[in-house]
Amino acid sequence: MNTGGACEKLRGHLDAYLSRELSQETSREVERHLESCPQCAAELETRARVRAQLQAAVRSTPVPPNLEAKVRRVLNAKVSRPRTGLWAVAAAAAVIVCVTLVGLLRERANPEQAILRKTSGRLAAVLNVGLRDHLHCAVFRKYSKQPVAARQMDADLGPEFAALVPLVQAKLPRDFRVIQGHRCIAGGRQYTHLIISGGAGGGKLVSLVLTRKLPSESLSGGIYQAGVDRFQVVGFQSHDYLAYVISDLDASQNLQLEAALAPVVREYLAAHATG
Ligand SMILES: [Zn+2]
Ligand SMILES: [Zn+2]
Repeated sequence: MNTGGACEKLRGHLDAYLSRELSQETSREVERHLESCPQCAAELETRARVRAQLQAAVRSTPVPPNLEAKVRRVLNAKVSRPRTGLWAVAAAAAVIVCVTLVGLLRERANPEQAILRKTSGRLAAVLNVGLRDHLHCAVFRKYSKQPVAARQMDADLGPEFAALVPLVQAKLPRDFRVIQGHRCIAGGRQYTHLIISGGAGGGKLVSLVLTRKLPSESLSGGIYQAGVDRFQVVGFQSHDYLAYVISDLDASQNLQLEAALAPVVREYLAAHATG
């Protein structure tokens, strides 16, 4: 029997283990623990099963393998601008210093930015796309904790997405409820956003976030998840959209919620997404 601490540490590694993102050494450590700990082995099995369900639910046409590299090349291609003279260089340097300072000051006053900076890994930027809106609307902004009237939600969502609400509600566990739906803008980007509350004591906050994919962004071929601060983020790509479930539930509850919602979101986007 292992101590609780060892199990907790191991569970923090399980998702990375399933995605084969761990170093060989850490993988071996995980495997050693799993051999001697039936509870963690069972947890691994559960997560693997939910993942497989999800992957089957959201599998989409794969992006051509060289697309990402192509996009990156375009982004990296430097535009050479003739700029001469020491003053121009000094002025540019001064601008950079100012921008950096403003950035630092803004960040200190902005808890959203502070949390977004904690993400790491290959997919941090694209997972942050969803997390940003959850933080912006659900966590750090005043919103009514009372459910918004259905008619209000319809108006806030607009005709394209209003019909998604009852479909999502039908897939939620009994103690969860869609309390708000709107279109919003965070970080200059447009989102369609459902806020759900419920769970233990009604105190958990979940966002279903949809946003149109940009050409440089890809979550194709799978489910991606990360724990950031106290939040769990799961994202997948569906048609022209990136879809996320973000919450303060634990990792496997959050995944299960995504597993329940993903098929309905996919179908909806397939039927309604234009272009
Ligand atoms: Zn264990
Ligand atoms: Zn929002």
